[in-house]
Amino acid sequence: MPETIITEKFCRRCQARKPASAFYRRRDAPIGLMAHCKECQRLARRPAPPPPAPSLPGEEWRPVAGYEGWYEVSNHGRVRGGLKSYQVTYQGRILRHTVSDYGYCTINLSRGGNKRLHFVHRLVAAAFIGPRPEGLEVNHRNGIKTDNRPANLEYLTPSANCIHAIETGLAPAREGEGNGQARLTESQVEEIRQLYASGVTQKALAQAFGVGKANVSMICGRKSWRHLP
Ligand SMILES: [Zn+2]
Repeated sequence: MPETIITEKFCRRCQARKPASAFYRRRDAPIGLMAHCKECQRLARRPAPPPPAPSLPGEEWRPVAGYEGWYEVSNHGRVRGGLKSYQVTYQGRILRHTVSDYGYCTINLSRGGNKRLHFVHRLVAAAFIGPRPEGLEVNHRNGIKTDNRPANLEYLTPSANCIHAIETGLAPAREGEGNGQARLTESQVEEIRQLYASGVTQKALAQAFGVGKANVSMICGRKSWRHLP
């Protein structure tokens, strides 16, 4: 008896006639085909994604700088996939962030196969405050590193950020012997004077720059480093 060659088959799930190439072969029967077509099998394996999470009250979404169309960031510090996301499951979905060892929210963003880790607070600041000026860092005003709402973020110089961290108790202050023989640079001295003029206490400045309070007092009182403005 000649072997019958199946060229078409009726899929019992999607109820359509499809060419034999649209079905996987059965392992147990050499010429048999599976009852459901490849596409139906694929859909059955992967459960339907849950619907996109609704926005919170007053939540505003803006594109992530450098990832326009791919990702969006909100004024609640959340990140979601944009319509360009090649995986449909990520479109409009809130992405889960990871809290880094230092307590900051980080998130992996990928575009064109390149995956990069980003700080969520930097994405929010860039979208809602503006591009980060050269040399400045993002500061969490209330000291809570996971509170990434734009109102809680601001750009500061690294040393002002350090002072803020000491004042809010985020970083331990280096005092006495622990601060070593700190040598200040001219730009640090200028920065100390500027920060002192803007209301930062001499004690906080001494701790942030790792020098003695007497040293800071001399700088602010222009008893030392008199050649600088
Ligand atoms: Zn089917």
